[in-house]
Amino acid sequence: MSEYQPSTNCLHAGYVPGSGEPRNIPIVQSTTFRYATGEAMGALFDLEAEGYFYTRLQNPTNDQVAAKICALEGGTAAMLTSSGQAANFFAIFNIASCGDHVVASSAIYGGTFNLFAVTMKRMGIDFTFVGPDCTEEELEAAFRPNTKAVFGEAIANPALTVLDIEKFARCAHAHGVPLIVDNTFPTPIHCRPFQWGADIVTHSTTKYMDGHANAVGGAIVDSGKFDWNRYADKFPGLTTPDESYHGITYTERFGLGGAYITKATAQLMRDFGATPAPMNSYFVNVGLETLPLRVEKHCANAQAAAEFLASHPKVAWVNY
Ligand SMILES: *Cc1c(COP(=O)(O)O)cnc(C)c1O
Repeated sequence: MSEYQPSTNCLHAGYVPGSGEPRNIPIVQSTTFRYATGEAMGALFDLEAEGYFYTRLQNPTNDQVAAKICALEGGTAAMLTSSGQAANFFAIFNIASCGDHVVASSAIYGGTFNLFAVTMKRMGIDFTFVGPDCTEEELEAAFRPNTKAVFGEAIANPALTVLDIEKFARCAHAHGVPLIVDNTFPTPIHCRPFQWGADIVTHSTTKYMDGHANAVGGAIVDSGKFDWNRYADKFPGLTTPDESYHGITYTERFGLGGAYITKATAQLMRDFGATPAPMNSYFVNVGLETLPLRVEKHCANAQAAAEFLASHPKVAWVNY
């Protein structure tokens, strides 16, 4: 439903009830799903058929809310995670492993900085941090032959610097790697990073999307635009057979629109299990329904607070 206005998608995308079906997204609070035969289950296990069998991998409630966020961002595929931390970890670990390198803006959430600079470094992934306002030459200089991605926040938490998405995307693409943008702060109501060249978007849904302080969560959305096959040697995990799934190749089987998210679900959710509770996804959906109204009010409140502070004799400067 990405052709609709965001306010329409916030209400209707991802789940369209049939006649007599529940108006709200049903909370499918079930670990497992029943099948009549072992063969039917086996086909699901081997990614040969589509369907649900175990909530760690996929769950209808989670998928319907992911589909809503996917429509809001104008992507081709999306998945929910149990937190924003898990979303950013998965987004990068899906395409970078031990021995690889990532260029990241230094103006990012503290938890993300720690994840990258300390924990992922322990996993053998090196990060080079660049100022969000760096020149294109400085950005260029950060790349290495083993660079696999560029990462930044559309509006940084808490610095509030605005990422020049076009500049970062241009440099990433010139080096044959995708730009991953954490779009938590603007939300797709204020910014849709795919329109400016980003390839993958992440979210902490915990913040404005949920909006009621009741569910920690995250999301990853793929634009489907990055051509993994063109840089196949850089991204063997997407372009060569996965032996843990009987040798399927993600780009071949799921196309450019589905390969990245399917791989993240099939491998990273399978192995790390950062699955959101269906109940939490339901809460995120309740939040999404009013997102356009709430961000408008957030902005009006922020403007009023900033103007008050800016005119206050005891306040030296205001950043907003
Ligand atoms: C909060 C936040 C995160 C981490 O998300 P959690 O849901 O707390 O794990 C990541 N990025 C940004 C921009 C955030 O504000």
